[in-house]
Amino acid sequence: RSFVEIDDVSMRYGGAEGTLALRHTSMRIAKGEFVAVVGPSGCGKSTLMRLVTGLWPCSAGSVIVAGKEVAGPLSIAGMAFQAPTMLPWRTILQNVMLPLEVVEPHRRRLRGERSMYEEKARKLLALVGLAGFEEKTPHQLSGGMQQRASLCRALIHDPQLLMLDEPFGALDVFTREELWEQMAEVCRILKPTVILVTHDLKEAVFLADRVLIMSARPGRIIAERTVPFERPRS
Ligand code: ADP
Ligand code: ADP
Repeated sequence: RSFVEIDDVSMRYGGAEGTLALRHTSMRIAKGEFVAVVGPSGCGKSTLMRLVTGLWPCSAGSVIVAGKEVAGPLSIAGMAFQAPTMLPWRTILQNVMLPLEVVEPHRRRLRGERSMYEEKARKLLALVGLAGFEEKTPHQLSGGMQQRASLCRALIHDPQLLMLDEPFGALDVFTREELWEQMAEVCRILKPTVILVTHDLKEAVFLADRVLIMSARPGRIIAERTVPFERPRS
């Protein structure tokens, strides 16, 4: 069976009279696959991310990840968003290690293996060009650099599922394309299952194995393309 199974999911915010954000949406994602979900603003992409990671329950339908129905925040997911949202009083290294402290099964692992995780955080930071910045605080770094650090944070606990909600959206075009290449490299090495939400088709084609296209609100998947040519990560 597929690693992620989204079956006929609908989502309405705020009761029967509320906004229908997603209607009858289904998708299957294989383990290790990189899928991009593309669509106009307001079509329900962020909603889809919240349902898959268990931050909201769906109004109808079901989401199954790794063989289990999602019924609450998913500890095997790593997440990155459009804004880096770093804790300003912590160093970059401490920010990257944050998921280990707040997500229960990882908290226990952290106690015995702090130095191993610290090593891992340093490696991830080096992969995205941030070696030497570990002890800086977020405001000492540019927006693009913080965004890179937030991708490392999403990966620190070896998430089986990586959820990326427009993490490159706020960057200038040069920083963005450089970060795509670093992301492709990271995925080539760690091989997580990835769902990337974006409204940038070029980005989707660059990074993903498969691109799902959503209609305008209320959204549903209306088309699907397998990316046909060689990319850096293959
Ligand atoms: P996208 O990420 O594609 O821009 P969203 O999932 O954020 O789309 O939003 C889909 C629809 O649901 C929009 O009409 C939006 O206004 C509505 N919506 C999103 N979040 C909420 C919320 N917490 N409460 C009520 N409506 C919401
Ligand atoms: P932006 O987010 O502004 O587009 P980038 O993330 O592309 O910037 O960073 C550009 C380069 O500028 C970085 O690789 C880094 O070498 C340098 N840089 C930016 N801010 C700082 C800083 N606070 N300290 C040291 N170097 C910095």
